[in-house]
Amino acid sequence: MYLIKTPLLLKKLYPNSLIWNKSRADKSIFLTFDDGPIPIVTPWVLKTLKNFNAKATFFCIGQNINKNKDIFLQLKADGHAIGNHTYNHLRGWDTRDNDYLDNFKQCQQLTQTNLFRPPYGRIKKSQIRMIVNGEWGMVNGEEGMVNSEKGNLEQESKTQIEEQSVLNLTSCVSHLKNNMPLLKTKIIMWDVLSGDFDINLSPEKCLKNVLKHTENGSIVVFHDSLKAWDRLSYTLPKALAYWTKEGYTFKTL
Ligand SMILES: [Zn+2]
Repeated sequence: MYLIKTPLLLKKLYPNSLIWNKSRADKSIFLTFDDGPIPIVTPWVLKTLKNFNAKATFFCIGQNINKNKDIFLQLKADGHAIGNHTYNHLRGWDTRDNDYLDNFKQCQQLTQTNLFRPPYGRIKKSQIRMIVNGEWGMVNGEEGMVNSEKGNLEQESKTQIEEQSVLNLTSCVSHLKNNMPLLKTKIIMWDVLSGDFDINLSPEKCLKNVLKHTENGSIVVFHDSLKAWDRLSYTLPKALAYWTKEGYTFKTL
């Protein structure tokens, strides 16, 4: 059993650090794609989004990133946002907190993002606390900033190799890291679940659900997975065409 539209009561049961939708004042829709990147489906989603000049957020599984690095790079090159969806798609309710956090961190090494979505939407309050209070976000919102600073320092150290020891370089980088504020991790839920993962749902019904429940500021969940393909490939282009006609724009989280 699952609900297409997240009811207010359910949102209230969770800590208020979770994000279920964005401002209802703007005609913006926040499309999200979970469980990729994978061949065929993810590149098709990218092509479809491009046709409508739409940006989206992809909550990637770490092990899929490792298997499909070129597709992951394409996601970023196309200007979409990346979210962490754990390394092995763990279900928080059935996982010990430390194991959950380790798996989150393993994915974080690849995603380098301040966006996280718990697989199945199942996460314990203790796990939320560990993730929100930890320092795994992006430095100043500039992804890879520390790395590029490190690169500059490395360059410098090559030209002045006699004066600057490797030890100095390391302490410089750690000084930079410690003095830049990290963006806190945001836990992103949703207010519209397309049900594209449900093999008993017809593609037509999937489209109908999504169009009926999406409004200003909605965060809509799709899946770039093989299981979702029949419904996703039918629903996404039609929904994008409909919303575009209605004057919506599609933004990253
Ligand atoms: Zn998932």
